[in-house]
Amino acid sequence: MARSPVSSRQDPDQEQFLTVLSRDEALARFEAALFPRAVPTEERMLADALGLALADDVKAPIDVPPFDRSNVDGFAVRAADIATASEALPARLLLNRETIACGVAPQLPVLAATATSIATGGPVPRGADAIIMVEHTQPTEDDAIEVRRGASPGQFISHAGSDIARGEVLLRAGTVIGSREIGMLAACGIALATVARKLRVAVLSTGDELVQPGHLLRPAGIYDANGAIVSAAVTENGGEATFLGAFADDEATLEAVMREALATHDMLILSGGTSKGAGDVSHRIVNRLGAPGIVAHGVALKPGKPLCLAVCGGKPVVVLPGFPTSAMFTFHDMIVPVLRRMAGLPPRTEAQVAASIPLRIPSELGRTEFVMVSLVEAEQGLVAYPTGKGSGAITSFAQADGFISIEALADNMPAGSEAAVTLFTPHVRVPDLVVIGSNCTGLDLVVGALFRAGLTVRSIAVGSLGGLAAAKRGECDIAPIHLFDAKTQSYNAPFLSAGLELVEGWRRMQGIAYRPGDARFEGSDAEEALRAALADPDCMMVNRNQGSGTRILIDRLLGPARPDGYWNQPRSHNAVAAAVAQNRADWGVTIAPVARSAGLGFIPLTEEHYDFALVSARKERPAVQAFLAALATPEIHAALERAGFSRPN
Ligand code: AMP
Ligand code: MG
Repeated sequence: MARSPVSSRQDPDQEQFLTVLSRDEALARFEAALFPRAVPTEERMLADALGLALADDVKAPIDVPPFDRSNVDGFAVRAADIATASEALPARLLLNRETIACGVAPQLPVLAATATSIATGGPVPRGADAIIMVEHTQPTEDDAIEVRRGASPGQFISHAGSDIARGEVLLRAGTVIGSREIGMLAACGIALATVARKLRVAVLSTGDELVQPGHLLRPAGIYDANGAIVSAAVTENGGEATFLGAFADDEATLEAVMREALATHDMLILSGGTSKGAGDVSHRIVNRLGAPGIVAHGVALKPGKPLCLAVCGGKPVVVLPGFPTSAMFTFHDMIVPVLRRMAGLPPRTEAQVAASIPLRIPSELGRTEFVMVSLVEAEQGLVAYPTGKGSGAITSFAQADGFISIEALADNMPAGSEAAVTLFTPHVRVPDLVVIGSNCTGLDLVVGALFRAGLTVRSIAVGSLGGLAAAKRGECDIAPIHLFDAKTQSYNAPFLSAGLELVEGWRRMQGIAYRPGDARFEGSDAEEALRAALADPDCMMVNRNQGSGTRILIDRLLGPARPDGYWNQPRSHNAVAAAVAQNRADWGVTIAPVARSAGLGFIPLTEEHYDFALVSARKERPAVQAFLAALATPEIHAALERAGFSRPN
């Protein structure tokens, strides 16, 4: 009998995503299960209401100002009395025997041909219809004033209710209370505001591997990033997050914690364990917490496919994917709208800018894909560089200005496309200096000096060749490169094209890294070490990726040999050092500072040149000059040397 395509359903450990919903469909189901619902409210004193959303429209209980008010220091008059006044023919007004200061209610009317002294803010007396400034009057000896110019009725008077009229809607429900709103409420005499109570959101992380920040990382452990990310993101969106900690993937413990959390909070957000794998238990618990249970499990989002959305007894329960970037994106895209709506907050306003895409971005067909980008300014406008390193990467967030989304029906975004970038912060900070190319810890030292001088630097790691391409397109000021030209047996210079010039950087000693005490390497020179490594069939190497300068070096060293580990080809110096330090390999080629900081032994091979391709047309820019100046300072030279780099000779 043919196997049924859904037979995996029978085996709970092999469950797959039976129905992957589109983003819109998943969100619609989630919202349909949650709304309409009342927004929980509370009364707060104005000072404690900052940042909260008003639950109801607020109508003005009084007129502001409450009476007709003088806007200047001067005299309250009848405009008709001074209609014909001029330099040649001043009008003479008898002073009434009172002075109206702020807070003083007038007693005497202003009758024809009289005036009453009044201060700024004073209530206009009966009969008066204009104020004349004190500067435009002349006192006489007999308790009168002379006025040498006319005034139109209403001059310098704010009428009662002209600012705020009684009964007018002052602030609408959903308005977030800031200092200006507090000012308006206070001006109307309102001391208490009915606000949407902050949603109480319980946050917890799941995974046997998780270790809380601040604690020592054990072997195979991972720091719990999601707990902190999700709690902060809840707070940023007006919620009150309670982080309960990280819990092992143990069904009984987890269920007890989740039940308790759901009983005492408005919402429960978990992360991890949603992939329907053997150890992934949270979604099974969710279905036992209350009706209707899971409304979507598996959403056509990238990153974020394993998202699980549920409503249990009227409360939302969300299981975010484990990878921090996936957790973050799904939270912002799918959870924030619901969180804000439940909390009576208006939808988040997102700022977008248009930018062009410099490189083709491949995308998975059938899933809405979010790609984080860094913005740089080129002559033709903003350019958006993808910064993502895959859904497991967290650093891309710090470097990104925002993200673009590639629709489910596209399998790529072609180079040169115009895309809308949704900004993480509403203001794009165009950096003073843009560095695109190969990355090096030495570069951090130079960038650090610029940073301390108040310059902003955007450094995007795309490798040497990617940097050169960006420099040719005028998208960066400087491209750090380390490219060896076999024909001329020299570094970097042969790769420069017109419009670029070479600035010497520093040298990085490449060598063989090994664990200290390994007799196959200890005390040997490079040739002996390599011979010993190749002679021992148990000696495992770690390689580098195709196209890296280090790989060219390794292939030259090995010749035709293919020792065990050759096909392990990580993309960075640090990954090589980690593999050797953690005993997953016995040797690899990396640079001296990296080997040293990983506590490894090191046998020097050759010096690599790490230089800068400078875009000549941008050379005079102050930030480029500052970079070149920093590069030439004795402090930077000393810092580079301390870090294990050497100067060009
Ligand atoms: P899971 O969804 O539990 O299968 O996890 C997917 C990946 O995300 C695994 O590599 C986990 O180690 C990682 N991960 C899960 N939870 C967290 C967390 N709270 N912080 C950082 N990484 C996590
Ligand atoms: Mg897990």
